[in-house]
Amino acid sequence: MDRHFGLFAPVESGAFAYGFTCDRAWLRLLDRLFSDLDVIRREDDMTDLKIIKAKKKFRALWVYAQDGNARVKERFWRAEDVAYATCETCGGSTIQIVQLV
Ligand SMILES: [Zn+2]
Repeated sequence: MDRHFGLFAPVESGAFAYGFTCDRAWLRLLDRLFSDLDVIRREDDMTDLKIIKAKKKFRALWVYAQDGNARVKERFWRAEDVAYATCETCGGSTIQIVQLV
């Protein structure tokens, strides 16, 4: 996560107090999310965009940010969808297709 450092609220602010409480298998999707947010921040000139917190709550991914725009929000929703379909322990799919006979 170090390479996305500029995206995060400073620890001293206390805003990031809970930090990341996601399980390991979600780190890859978070890494992709933060890479995309880096791009949006540059393209939309949003220097104040900061990630405050990312955590797992009721099996779902919750990401908190300050100063997001519609693009940021949309990217969050996509990450939350992907997280919901990704097992937080092994990274496998949580979507089971059962054929009924
Ligand atoms: Zn699993």
